[in-house]
Amino acid sequence: MDSTNRRSPRLAVLTVTCAFLTIAWGVAASLSATRVRIVTTMSSERAVADAQRFADLASVVAEDLLGRRSSRGPLVVTLYETLAEYQAKDEELTGGDFATNWAFSSRATKESYLALMPPMATPLQDAVGLTFLMQSQIAHEVGHQASYHVLPACAELPLWLSEGLACWVELETMRRAQRMTTIADPPFYSRRLVLVRSMLADRTWPGSAGIFADDYGPLDGARRYAIWSVFCGWLFDEVLRDQRRSLFAQARGIAATTPDARKKLTAIFTKALGKRAATLDAEFAKFVDALKPSWDEPFRATEQRGEDWLTIAFDTSNATCIRVEPVGVPNYTVRGTIEFLPGASSDLRLHVARDAGHELEVHFVQDVGVIAHWNDFGGGGAPGPMGELSGAGPFAFEVRVEPTKATVFIDDVEVSSIEIETPTNGGQVGIGAAAKSAGWWRDLEIEPPPRR
Ligand SMILES: [Zn+2]
Repeated sequence: MDSTNRRSPRLAVLTVTCAFLTIAWGVAASLSATRVRIVTTMSSERAVADAQRFADLASVVAEDLLGRRSSRGPLVVTLYETLAEYQAKDEELTGGDFATNWAFSSRATKESYLALMPPMATPLQDAVGLTFLMQSQIAHEVGHQASYHVLPACAELPLWLSEGLACWVELETMRRAQRMTTIADPPFYSRRLVLVRSMLADRTWPGSAGIFADDYGPLDGARRYAIWSVFCGWLFDEVLRDQRRSLFAQARGIAATTPDARKKLTAIFTKALGKRAATLDAEFAKFVDALKPSWDEPFRATEQRGEDWLTIAFDTSNATCIRVEPVGVPNYTVRGTIEFLPGASSDLRLHVARDAGHELEVHFVQDVGVIAHWNDFGGGGAPGPMGELSGAGPFAFEVRVEPTKATVFIDDVEVSSIEIETPTNGGQVGIGAAAKSAGWWRDLEIEPPPRR
């Protein structure tokens, strides 16, 4: 997200609150040697250290792409613990243009502002640090901010170039931080790949000419970010790899006052494609075809940490992260261990036998029990018997799926069993959580192992 706002940058400096200043000073003083100054209302040292690490790494990545900026002094990223604090700052700087975006960088102040995503209480931040989502969005905003400092015509940047390079910095930061190897793996990016594949399949894909003209038609925000991540990431990473530094050096030569600055900025990159421009769309389709997305996650909440999976749901949306590839056999077992993390709600959910119209949903609810119900996505069927589940765990679970029923075991004891009304002969499996819930999924296993 970025901003074309050109109001006075002084407001941002003058209107910080006292509590804010104290924390900001403490953090800035202890990290004076860093490339990015983190200003924050967050109280978890672990989460703030995490933010510092990803912001610093992103600034190194941005420098690789854009070149070094001439002015001294660190970049500045302000992190708000609550959405309300972020929205107050957005209201002050842009009149509320980014109220529902959770993050933006201002071309006027040349600084970045983010709300903690998803909202997390301090004990949860202390337990897990920042989420994959938050780490990646800090990197994204640092990418924007670096471009504002380096490119004189930053106010004239076409959207595809502005968002494309912020997405590239974001992806490269997550790779260098070893948070991923390919975009097909983390649910957050795998979802974008799913969207790109569906746009190519249903012919709503705008094509490279449409992208370079910033003509996206009626495509929504999620699809636009999918384009900027997957297409622009590929463009800078593979197609223009050897030329990208010299291309951004040329972009630095375009002034804000240059006539047609926006068109000239795009032309630098399209000219560099040469004859390849004619085959670019076919090449991209081939690249996408070879990348099989692992997960589809309509609302970002789930990430991998080593061998474990962590789900932290937003306050207003349930988290659902589904393996794209169906299990492929009618009889199978899903097992693993769950552990609840502190949250306003504690409802982890396993999805099995899922197809386009049905699934069996198993709720693990802390201090309530295990509830399994057949769901047609229209309100859900009657719940099966309830098993007990007291405390935060860990609890070893096992769900045995057969063509007409599923049986749930906790620590080897059968706790729930329910009929599958429309047998799916396999279907998909997934993990998730109710809104406001958080927890770990460990030692996840499907037996027999899927073919993939
Ligand atoms: Zn952006």
